[in-house]
Amino acid sequence: MKYVYGVVPSRRLGKSLGISPIPFKVCNYSCIYCQLGKTHNMRIKRETFYPLEEILDEFEKYLDLGNDFDVVTIVSEGEPLLYTPLDRLINGIKKLTNKKVVLITNGSLFFEEDVRNEVKNCDIIMPTLDAWDEESFRLINRPVGTITFEKMYNGLCELRKEFKGEIWLEVMLIKGVNDNYESLKKIKEKIDEINPDKVFVNVPIRPPAEEWVKIPEEQNISLAKKILNASTIEKYAEGEFKTLNSNVYEAIIGIIKRHPLRLEDIQRNFKNSEKIIKKLFNDKNVEKCSYNGKIFFRFKNWR
Ligand code: SF4
Repeated sequence: MKYVYGVVPSRRLGKSLGISPIPFKVCNYSCIYCQLGKTHNMRIKRETFYPLEEILDEFEKYLDLGNDFDVVTIVSEGEPLLYTPLDRLINGIKKLTNKKVVLITNGSLFFEEDVRNEVKNCDIIMPTLDAWDEESFRLINRPVGTITFEKMYNGLCELRKEFKGEIWLEVMLIKGVNDNYESLKKIKEKIDEINPDKVFVNVPIRPPAEEWVKIPEEQNISLAKKILNASTIEKYAEGEFKTLNSNVYEAIIGIIKRHPLRLEDIQRNFKNSEKIIKKLFNDKNVEKCSYNGKIFFRFKNWR
């Protein structure tokens, strides 16, 4: 399957079935912690990268096979707000299932009214806010030139005023960058103005784009949780990875394009895992990374 992937276990959402409407690593940021590697394909212009009907047809075919999932998550191997028409995608999904539709996004384009209108029928929007000013934004998220911190942040505030569903904000903590008392206090001020329904702090548990990016110390994670009044999601979700795709290798490639997998995830979740692992090691499109004492497989970013 080209657009539908998973089911992937999520600590916040349960069993999440993913839909990705964006080509691999097309994004308007190049975050230092991105688990998909550096962005070589920076974009600002929104596009219909794939025909809407093709995405919805594939989702409908998946539903014919089964519906053992809790939510449908629009999350990409890039930034989903770059896809248009998102409203027709969201409404199309909602016509086919009564499960909640969640949008995971970097939150970069909500300063555009059209974008806010296109996402209004989601049940939950999960944007990211890792920075507190232009300098920290450029250091952490490295946006394409025309996106400024002020524009992005005002967009999130506007979204809060108009959006009727829930906003669950995520802050990615990076050791020595935004995990100290002063930075956290400044992020907290910004969060208070947005007033999201929930706040989560996350840490880079998968191999980041920049090797120097590290997981904060336990005491800084606790400090962040306290200051930001947040829950943490720093551990792996230990639920099952599942696929209804009869071609299991293809399904695994589909997952690692959006979500690097540990060797042990493959051993634990898939039959014939030894054969699969051998094939992954020999696949030139798959990068093998060693991070925090674990081996990860992730899709290679050629461009
Ligand atoms: S983490 Fe998300 S927003 Fe940041 S570069 Fe990666 S895909 Fe883009």
